[in-house]
Amino acid sequence: MRFIRDIHAERHAENKPCISFEFFPPKTAEGDKALLEKHIPALMELKPDYCSVTYGAGGSTKEKTADIVESVQNQHQLTTMMHLTCVEATRSELEGVVADAKNRGVKNVLALRGDPPGGGEFRVAEGGFEFSYQLVEMLKEQGDLSIGTAGFPEGHIHCTEGKYVDWERLANKVRCGADFVITQLFFDNADYFEFVDHLRDKHGITVPIVPGVLPIISAGLIKRFTQLCGAKLPDPLVEQLEACANDDEVKEFGIEFATKQLKELIDRGAPGVHFYTLNKAYSTTKIMQNLGLA
Ligand SMILES: Cc1cc2nc3c(=O)[nH]c(=O)nc-3n(C[C@H](O)[C@H](O)[C@H](O)COP(=O)(O)OP(=O)(O)OC[C@H]3O[C@@H](n4cnc5c(N)ncnc54)[C@H](O)[C@@H]3O)c2cc1C
Repeated sequence: MRFIRDIHAERHAENKPCISFEFFPPKTAEGDKALLEKHIPALMELKPDYCSVTYGAGGSTKEKTADIVESVQNQHQLTTMMHLTCVEATRSELEGVVADAKNRGVKNVLALRGDPPGGGEFRVAEGGFEFSYQLVEMLKEQGDLSIGTAGFPEGHIHCTEGKYVDWERLANKVRCGADFVITQLFFDNADYFEFVDHLRDKHGITVPIVPGVLPIISAGLIKRFTQLCGAKLPDPLVEQLEACANDDEVKEFGIEFATKQLKELIDRGAPGVHFYTLNKAYSTTKIMQNLGLA
């Protein structure tokens, strides 16, 4: 398996976008079967550069996240990144998770603070980390890993000091050892371009800053997601969603919207695309085909 920093360097040299697909551990046995036997194999046809698997609140998916990562790496011979959060974990517990992951062949970790189970304010676990830069530092000390971090083109929802302060903290995570940034979902590309320019010009950050894109599949779902993460849904987009008769129409509209959004991002220099696949193959496949990336 490869380090994601090396994959990015290679794609950059070839002037090609680095494509990654994100999955979350399902809650049921049927969900596991559908993910591992249907959706992931379908998405592998698109030949992504790597995949990633999320980490549930409070380490609730600790085993399952590592199992899915291991299974994709072994079955598909594809580099797969493990997400890891600081929620309800001590430093030594996190070190244990990382040691186990490395034994299973993990080479890449997305270092996150995570959100508390059930929402609300983040609480630091005794002997744990308050912010994700501390997790980045710990991972860096472990060595033999490529480390990713999360970035927020509209500023993080809980950063009361505003987006520029939040971006300064992101720059700090990179200085602590993060090799690349994956962004929260956003729908206005101007937010991404301002974010990238600011990090480059004001903070000298040169690592890849990869847009995270969520293909819209349901009007209700996207309203809930954006409320939870604080991303804005621009008014014209809301109007277009409301003009759709049902979720099948929303899904087709979502494909068209993401295709246009990504075309502009790639044309204007985004180093890749991280798809929040929602464990489904249909929309991501259509968008990749539309962009000529399949
Ligand atoms: C690509 C991506 C993948 C994700 N995957 C998962 C997942 O698998 N599981 C999951 O639970 N969540 C996941 N999340 C959600 C993420 O955990 C939350 O958005 C969380 O609220 C913030 O995480 P962070 O790593 O950015 O936190 P941090 O970098 O720690 O930042 C959190 C807040 O603290 C502030 N801050 C940072 N440093 C300092 C400092 N030194 N002093 C004061 N304030 C500071 C920041 O401005 C921000 O407001 C993901 C998000 C993204 C974008």
